Amino acid sequence: MTYDDNNIFAKILRAEIPCKKIYESEHALAFHDINPQAKIHILVIPKGKYISFADFSKNASKDEIEGFFKAVGKVAENQNLVDDGYRLLTNHGVNAGQEVPHFHIHIFGKQPLGPMISKI
Ligand code: 5GP
Repeated sequence: MTYDDNNIFAKILRAEIPCKKIYESEHALAFHDINPQAKIHILVIPKGKYISFADFSKNASKDEIEGFFKAVGKVAENQNLVDDGYRLLTNHGVNAGQEVPHFHIHIFGKQPLGPMISKI
């Protein structure tokens, strides 16, 4: 599978479509999910062209990986999610129902988040 330059997050990175930006660094961009599933639902994406976590963890540089995960932590902290708790989630591939083929981490918070997975 090759990276699709026309995926929605690639367009957000190129500022071709808007987003509600929360944080930006050399390696990451964070913005509100357009269809929030919790009181706080933020997406953090790397600036590089990585399809999913599998691609990112295998092919991103140490700087990109460090910069990206530091950004996730910083966003959670800046949004005051640390004391009450929050959840990180990433979907890779079909079984996980990944919709957008640009690696992203969801951050959920500001409410009790229930069980991790609804049922087996
Ligand atoms: P996935 O299922 O790939 O893990 O999650 C994709 C997420 O991207 C979904 O939660 C969906 O609501 C969000 N999303 C899809 N299109 C847009 C968009 O144009 N803008 C923003 N901010 N979020 C989007």
